[in-house]
Amino acid sequence: MLLDAGFDDVTVYEAVPAGAPQGGGLIGLEHSSLDILDHLGVPQDEFVRYDSEAVMHITVCQRRPGQVRRHLYAGRNTTWTLLHTALSRRLPTEVLQTGVRVTGLSAEHDRPLLHFAGGDAAPADLVVFADGRSSIGRRLLDPQRRLHYAGYVAHRGQTNTTQPDLRDFLRFEPSPHRGMQFNVAPIPGGADWTFYLSATPAQYTDFFGAPPTRRVFALPQHVTAAARTEVDASARRYLPDEQAALVHATTTRMAAPVMDIEPPTRMVWPIGGGHAVLLGDALAPVRPHTARGANNGIEQAWGLTAALTQHRKYHADLTAALDGWQRRHLPAAVAAVQLGPALGRQFGLGAA
Ligand SMILES: Cc1cc2nc3c(=O)[nH]c(=O)nc-3n(C[C@H](O)[C@H](O)[C@H](O)COP(=O)(O)OP(=O)(O)OC[C@H]3O[C@@H](n4cnc5c(N)ncnc54)[C@H](O)[C@@H]3O)c2cc1C
Repeated sequence: MLLDAGFDDVTVYEAVPAGAPQGGGLIGLEHSSLDILDHLGVPQDEFVRYDSEAVMHITVCQRRPGQVRRHLYAGRNTTWTLLHTALSRRLPTEVLQTGVRVTGLSAEHDRPLLHFAGGDAAPADLVVFADGRSSIGRRLLDPQRRLHYAGYVAHRGQTNTTQPDLRDFLRFEPSPHRGMQFNVAPIPGGADWTFYLSATPAQYTDFFGAPPTRRVFALPQHVTAAARTEVDASARRYLPDEQAALVHATTTRMAAPVMDIEPPTRMVWPIGGGHAVLLGDALAPVRPHTARGANNGIEQAWGLTAALTQHRKYHADLTAALDGWQRRHLPAAVAAVQLGPALGRQFGLGAA
């Protein structure tokens, strides 16, 4: 977005080395985000492979699919991997520095100075921390706001066989008992499912080798036999035969603990004569049921680019422009943080 708006001194520091798989799952993008990507010249068919807008809510009673309710989602589904590839392939090689982990931030000669693992440092006028759930930026700028485990896990799986009948996003919810949710949708080459199940912090540690606040994403190599056994048994206990069989046949599994955080009160910090900002999950990771995490990040980044453009092109006061950006985007971030526990309660998931 910054390059597209004419900023020519931009560097992206990405901790993960080039080519390392970062396997991510299904993401629903609302029309606001889809339109931003359109404006950037990223054609929708590059990252939306199944264009169904339908979400089918299926009530499960004693492992049998019952009542089906259909609604249309005001957006389209993509996957983290499709979106990440579509965006990162447009970055000139000199802009994207991979395998560079940010570890600190100081003010030197009145400018923000980023510090990297290994001892190097780089000055900047503006630092944008878009570094995800366990953001170093948030820990440095807003250390009071810590992640709290919500008491349940989004177990995920990706199959590598396509299901010809699967076109829509399917959501299975038990009746009358609550306390689980199962979603499945098509992705290129297969299906992506998410199975929400409760787990104590000790169970999470047993399943994925580290506590939820430390292992905020469990990649395939972290998933133990204990986790597979538990998920397989829950599939047998709750899901209709077809979905249970899908879970049992899935070899590639991942998980994300569902986490909460105090709502943010600010997005911008002065650093020397410059600034640092937080956006996306770095600002506020939200529960997956809100389907707002990626949308918030894209909308905030677009708004930030607009504010910076007013400064660059028309000499708007930078601090005022950044304050205006924060005023426009903070309420949506706070609302999404607060919506998560309310939805969790509705589904009977977690303690909050
Ligand atoms: C099961 C599930 C379902 C979801 N469904 C939806 C949905 O339907 N709709 C939606 O909008 N959102 C959804 N989300 C949320 C969405 O995936 C995230 O909100 C989104 O990926 C966050 O984007 P981000 O760029 O802020 O952070 P990330 O995608 O986490 O990217 C952060 C990047 O920063 C890098 N990084 C981290 N630390 C450092 C460091 N110190 N130095 C340098 N680089 C670093 C990481 O390697 C990573 O590449 C879902 C999430 C889950 C778990």
